[in-house]
Amino acid sequence: AKRSGRGKVMVYTREMEEAARRVTHIEQALRRAVAAEEVEPHFQPIVELKTGHVIGFEALARWTDRDLGVIPPNVFIPIAEERGIIGALSQLLLRKATETARNWPDELFLSFNLSPSQLVDQNTAQQVLAILARTGFDPRRLEIEITETGLMTDPASAEKIVNDLRAVGIRVSLDDFGTGQSSLGRLREFHFDKLKIDRSFVSSILEDKPSEHIIRAILAMCEGLGMNVVAEGIEEEAQADRLVEFGCAGGQGYLFGKPSDAEATMAYLREAYRG
Ligand code: C2E
Ligand code: CA
Ligand code: CA
Ligand code: CA
Repeated sequence: AKRSGRGKVMVYTREMEEAARRVTHIEQALRRAVAAEEVEPHFQPIVELKTGHVIGFEALARWTDRDLGVIPPNVFIPIAEERGIIGALSQLLLRKATETARNWPDELFLSFNLSPSQLVDQNTAQQVLAILARTGFDPRRLEIEITETGLMTDPASAEKIVNDLRAVGIRVSLDDFGTGQSSLGRLREFHFDKLKIDRSFVSSILEDKPSEHIIRAILAMCEGLGMNVVAEGIEEEAQADRLVEFGCAGGQGYLFGKPSDAEATMAYLREAYRG
């Protein structure tokens, strides 16, 4: 028993070593990719649910490495945060995203994700503003998506960054609402322009009553607090119908469009604005 226990520990250690090596490998490849500007924003439509009309797009990072292949953002974003690359990566993505979005019709917004570690770095607001100045993108067309995790590490620092962004007309959304360390108190301390209801509630809205009640309660709360709402991860018509019935104004999900590159997004818009 002792031997197998030891064996297990050894296997576990080797697996951990391999995992650490892979992380370092990804980190090095990512540094190269950021320097070579090879990470790209893709864009997923956000729509007015009642009409299906597009109102904006969320930028989502995409990266294909020559050797490692496609690495999903759920993998490389946390590594970028951990290894201190997120600032450079984020600046590259915001520059590319605003260079694309400035060619869209003026009424469409661009929504951009900031990582938790960026909300403890007081350079973040200055960096965002510098990129907007450089690309000539109107700050009033930009939304920043942050999560509750990002607000918790250092609430005072996060608040200062959020205030600096809002001062020039950038709007701030609370992402993934209903997951993680949700605290309603947060909604009292911070003013958010928009709340994004996490996909986990949307995907079970037709199956279980609790999800339905939670979504209705979130919508009522947003109405009272004067916040816009977007329901994330809508994949089926029936889910969208239900959300409209409950009075949810905004929606996002594969039903309306998957994230696609700048060129395909332009084609989508030409189709959407035709006639
Ligand atoms: P998120 O911000 O919650 O983004 C929404 C995720 O849900 C995206 O995954 C999107 O492709 C996916 N999604 C959208 N509609 C549907 C749907 O109908 N069904 C399903 N199953 N999924 C849907 P993605 O692109 O893989 O990104 C994962 C996460 O990585 C994002 O979650 C965000 O936390 C992070 N991320 C992506 N791009 C960036 C970035 O540029 N900066 C930062 N800081 N984080 C990013
Ligand atoms: Ca997001
Ligand atoms: Ca989200
Ligand atoms: Ca998420």
